[in-house]
Amino acid sequence: MRPKIGLVCFVFEKLNSMVFLIQSGYVRSIIDAGGIPIIIPVTEDPQQCEAYVDMIDGLLVPGGEDMTAQFFGEEPHPTVNYINRDKDLYEMALIRRVMEQKKPIFGICRGLQIINVLAGGTLIQDIPSQVGSSICHSQSMEIRNEVTHKVFVEPGSILHEVMGREEIRTNSYHHQAIGELAPGFKVTGRAADGVIEAVESEDGKIFCVQWHPENLYKRFPEFAGLFRKLIDMSRH
Ligand code: MN
Repeated sequence: MRPKIGLVCFVFEKLNSMVFLIQSGYVRSIIDAGGIPIIIPVTEDPQQCEAYVDMIDGLLVPGGEDMTAQFFGEEPHPTVNYINRDKDLYEMALIRRVMEQKKPIFGICRGLQIINVLAGGTLIQDIPSQVGSSICHSQSMEIRNEVTHKVFVEPGSILHEVMGREEIRTNSYHHQAIGELAPGFKVTGRAADGVIEAVESEDGKIFCVQWHPENLYKRFPEFAGLFRKLIDMSRH
């Protein structure tokens, strides 16, 4: 059985028209791990996502825009210049329903952030000014498959089970991160500056990373294990 994995699109203005778009890295990573990607469009009607959730066995929540700050009770930081409120609402409704049905979820980058917010946590809106780190979390987009900073992995976590090591090196292009961790979640990876780089739910149904394994797994095959883990969890 090849599990069906839902994957939400981006919405972009291109050529005077709104287009749905998803980077091939997410799609290929699901196929290469043995799943069937089901690409889910974003609409203004959050109810519409219910039919998709009934159709899928698991969900991959990809990277993307910054979250609308009001959803975690803040005003937007001056560095937040691109959001999509409809997409936030649609994706949160989708994730909530997947959680209700106890289907597995793997969150990447924005995926980790939106899951933390909908579960009751908050975000650091701008790492450079709010953390004051000596680590670069926003490497150039032109070198997506280079690993840069270290992540320290919590023993006993899903992340540790998959990676098999307590210290890994990842790529990093995020200017936001988890602030207050949502109830029901635990931190499973941190950078040396304390920035949260990985979390999972206490029930083991959701695991998330702040980096981008879809751009790494061909060059560093150990990262393919994260996608295989989602596919394995989606078989049950
Ligand atoms: Mn980072």
